Amino acid sequence: MYKLFQDKVPFAQSNENRFKDNELRRLDRLIKKQIKEKFSSELNLYIVDSASCSACELELQTLFNPLYNISKNGVKVVYEIEKADILIITGLVSENMYKEILDLYEQLKEPKRVILFGDCPLFKAPFQDTFAIKRPLEFEFSSAYNISGCPPEPKRILNELLHYLKEYI
Ligand code: SF4
Repeated sequence: MYKLFQDKVPFAQSNENRFKDNELRRLDRLIKKQIKEKFSSELNLYIVDSASCSACELELQTLFNPLYNISKNGVKVVYEIEKADILIITGLVSENMYKEILDLYEQLKEPKRVILFGDCPLFKAPFQDTFAIKRPLEFEFSSAYNISGCPPEPKRILNELLHYLKEYI
């Protein structure tokens, strides 16, 4: 097994660019440019999961793997809300998380930017028919941007992120 990794890992790393298609390269370049211009080259995301099925988080994590490698364009995940440029919310909003999310929003620095990630926060995904769920978050954050999908796949996330950075910031 160890030998397998020895053989495969350097191969995968050295061929990162070969697997990137033109669309990914274009997104890389444009997202990096937007982040440089509007966030001094570093965009900090705070991601909160409020009753998601975890598939949206997995797709978000994918952006940081060696293929998509969004961190090299300046995107970072932070764990202190005060440092965040954008609050990203996944999942439906459970009774338990409702107040926590409003608290996070209060602490988010101005201008407050929120992305409702996936179909759940807008109640367009499964699972909403349960006593534990509050109403859709679009009622709370009317200016929030929605990246739709169940879950949205990486290229779609990147396209939407680029659109958001270009048109809304
Ligand atoms: S939008 Fe779909 S994939 Fe994302 S958390 Fe909801 S059910 Fe899961």
